[in-house]
Amino acid sequence: MPTLTRAEAATRASLVDVESYHVDLDLTGTGDTFRARTVARFRARPGASTFCEFEPAAITSITLNGQPVPHTAVTGGRLALTGLAEVNELVTDATMAYSNNGEGLHRYTDPADGSVYLYQHLFINNGGRVLPCFDQPDLKASFRVSVTAPADWTVATNGQLVSRDGGRWEFAATERISTYLASLIAGPWHVRTDEHDGIPLALYIRATLAEQLDAQAPEIFEITKQCLDRFHEMFEIRYPFGHYQQAFAPEFNFGAMEYPGLIVLRDEFVPRSTITETEREHRAGVIAHEMAHQWFGDLVTMAWWDDLWLNESFAEYLGSRVAAEATRFTGTWTTFAIHRKAWGLRADQRPSTHPVAPSEVADTDEALMNFDGISYAKGASVLKQLVAWLGDDAFLAGVNAHFKTHAYGNATLADLLSALSKASGRDLSGWAELWLRRAQVNTLQLEARRDGDVYAEVALVQTAPEDFPTLRPHRIGIGLYDHAGGAVTRRELIETEIEATGRTVLPGLAGARAADLVLVNDGDLAYGKIRLDDDSSAAVPLLLPLLTDSLARAVIWASVLDAVVDGERPVAELVTLVLTALPAETETVIVEDVLRATRGLVDRYATAETRPAALDLVAQAADRLVASSEPGSSRQLVAARGLIGATLDTARLRAWLTGAAVPPGLVVDADLRWLILYRLTVLGAAGVDAIEAELAGDRTASGEQWAARCRASLPDPAAKEAAWAAVVGDASLSNRLVELTAGGFWQPEQRELLEPYVSRYFAEMPGMMRIRSGMSAEKTALAAYPTVMVSARTRELAAELLARPDLHPMLRRVVLDNDDDMRRALASS
Ligand SMILES: [Zn+2]
Repeated sequence: MPTLTRAEAATRASLVDVESYHVDLDLTGTGDTFRARTVARFRARPGASTFCEFEPAAITSITLNGQPVPHTAVTGGRLALTGLAEVNELVTDATMAYSNNGEGLHRYTDPADGSVYLYQHLFINNGGRVLPCFDQPDLKASFRVSVTAPADWTVATNGQLVSRDGGRWEFAATERISTYLASLIAGPWHVRTDEHDGIPLALYIRATLAEQLDAQAPEIFEITKQCLDRFHEMFEIRYPFGHYQQAFAPEFNFGAMEYPGLIVLRDEFVPRSTITETEREHRAGVIAHEMAHQWFGDLVTMAWWDDLWLNESFAEYLGSRVAAEATRFTGTWTTFAIHRKAWGLRADQRPSTHPVAPSEVADTDEALMNFDGISYAKGASVLKQLVAWLGDDAFLAGVNAHFKTHAYGNATLADLLSALSKASGRDLSGWAELWLRRAQVNTLQLEARRDGDVYAEVALVQTAPEDFPTLRPHRIGIGLYDHAGGAVTRRELIETEIEATGRTVLPGLAGARAADLVLVNDGDLAYGKIRLDDDSSAAVPLLLPLLTDSLARAVIWASVLDAVVDGERPVAELVTLVLTALPAETETVIVEDVLRATRGLVDRYATAETRPAALDLVAQAADRLVASSEPGSSRQLVAARGLIGATLDTARLRAWLTGAAVPPGLVVDADLRWLILYRLTVLGAAGVDAIEAELAGDRTASGEQWAARCRASLPDPAAKEAAWAAVVGDASLSNRLVELTAGGFWQPEQRELLEPYVSRYFAEMPGMMRIRSGMSAEKTALAAYPTVMVSARTRELAAELLARPDLHPMLRRVVLDNDDDMRRALASS
């Protein structure tokens, strides 16, 4: 679909006021298309001309206010509308194309049973792929949907089902919602239903995962109910969209999407193999996140994508918070500290960094690229800090006033700030300017000057990057830890507000007995790059495993990993710390994240000579974790996954595949088998025959995806050529299969073989961007980037591509950011 600019949207909003859409879909055809008849009712400035988004495969008829409109009025994904009356009725009858990239009406065939499933994903500008519509967030309308489909299907939409007669479904009109929030699923879905507090609940999944959903539905329903209760305690407006349905859909581009009344989540959230506690916690966080959107995003929607953060930062903050407060997953802030925040900090230091709330997002392409670590994780960190500053009562009072004023409408940053200011009595304009309007991140470094065993002075030094010289106020915790008798205890936690200055002397510490470890950002309230003082850093290897607070350990690990990324510490030091300190780690999410991040850093920061030894140490650490875990535990499984990814011991991996010498309690199920096989294919210890044999026993969606990834990873010229051709040129391949093929392609073990593909990336990606669109194109460009080919030559090629004026903005951003990551890696090696 064509990009919509901010200016076009503003002009159109001044001309048009949309009342309703009635969409009547016929999904009974067997080809690549479906029939859509739509009646759109809207008011307009009389005599005005404008357009709506519309991309039919073939047009049967178009009428505006009863008069036929020539088919030539549709060009480039837009239908020109001229001579508008005050009250208008647009009626279209057209053939529309299904998609295979997760946008529009995505059509998926389950390889296990041949069943067809459809889901609609109109976000961010794909409304015209299903119906003619004014596709921008501030032109809300009521949607009424009718569907004709095979009689043995299940169909669901945002609206409630009014009647069903054989293969004909009629749904009630929705409240006023934005076009990007109109949702629909259709197919032989397996359904589970429940009810809570007067709200009907439903879960949907494809039939081949029915058994898994049945096993996990009690937990999913329980979390849904707990979160609904918590939101009802916090918010004065009850859940506003009738029923609460959650569909787990195949090949979904996002983790999930907050469609009012019919949330869609990727079906990987209901895995067929063993599910870890980390994965369960993540799912609970996503359920809470999408529920938060029902208010932040769906009930009150940003006017334009400038205020995307009003959706995502709030949902990210409330998702972590409500999951921690209302469900058994009380450790979500530890996950946030080690995992999500690192994502935000990295994004914030790349060339593409932008403010949490940019004053102007030019078009829908730019908006799509802003669904990044800044809009989610940085924004949520900043909100967490704001709530600590305002106090929870004032924060919730402001938010509730905001909902009340703008329900079923749109709002901006200024609207929210004025509600929060009113409720708290504090002027937020200075805070918003520094935290929401300015990009980049501060470093917070502790300086502890000693006089023998006591402190002469302890200060927190705040710095900013040269190009972004903003210093900020921070609310931050400083923990003083003592080491005695084999234990580390927190003597004191100082929670303090520091000003937007370079150096703050911490009060009350001069003359105090020096601590064995001072933890900056204890409690993880602040958003910044955290650096410990020299003595504390030196004490980390010994003391880190003895800290009893998982959040404190997460803050330290995140700081250490960040210092390696910046080249302040060698990757060899990190690997040694992993070997000495990680095997004692009890928090599964920390084990998982540190193993994954370390592995990534070894791939990019170690040289060809040092890499095997570094990997071996990571594998040893993982091995110790496996051995010291309770058999069958999540910790054992994530450690085993880490071990499989790092080990060079192919004989051991082969043995596990045959069931020999498997650690007690570790279940080598379908997905773990594939992970082992993937490692063997990367190392050249298993070939195409082994992949096909595994696939023959696993003709499922997961099996197909794993096979695609394994084939791409083979150290074989013909396999590489086939995989590359698929990534850059095969538009028939679905979004998920392309991503996984690209994801298996680059392997640090195969640098020699892969060398010719570095220049091909830069030569051929512009063409790939022409055959794929939206998020699928962006994800493919990202997954196919030669991140492991760290060299000056790769950077030169990137610079040449970036010099091309016609470069697609999404590809430009991918190359710019990845090249900057490579700059750091090169500088440190
Ligand atoms: Zn979200």
